Amino acid sequence: MPAPIKRINSPASAKAAIDTVRTWEADKSVSVGCPLCGADGLGIIDKSARPHMSWYALKCGACDLDEAIAIPESAHNAAID
Ligand SMILES: [Zn+2]
Repeated sequence: MPAPIKRINSPASAKAAIDTVRTWEADKSVSVGCPLCGADGLGIIDKSARPHMSWYALKCGACDLDEAIAIPESAHNAAID
């Protein structure tokens, strides 16, 4: 099994991925597009388990994206630290 290659590997792709998660969090009934290839039907799984970090697994069938991103809680509530 080959080692996974990180697809979300630049500030621009990370920002796109976070923006995608935010859109999805705001309305989970909406289908969001893949932050890398733009295909509809991106799968997002909320894997948050820690108090100060949110984890989301992103899966795209169109470009084989299968990665988890972490979003610090401070990004949600910048005033609380
Ligand atoms: Zn994709």
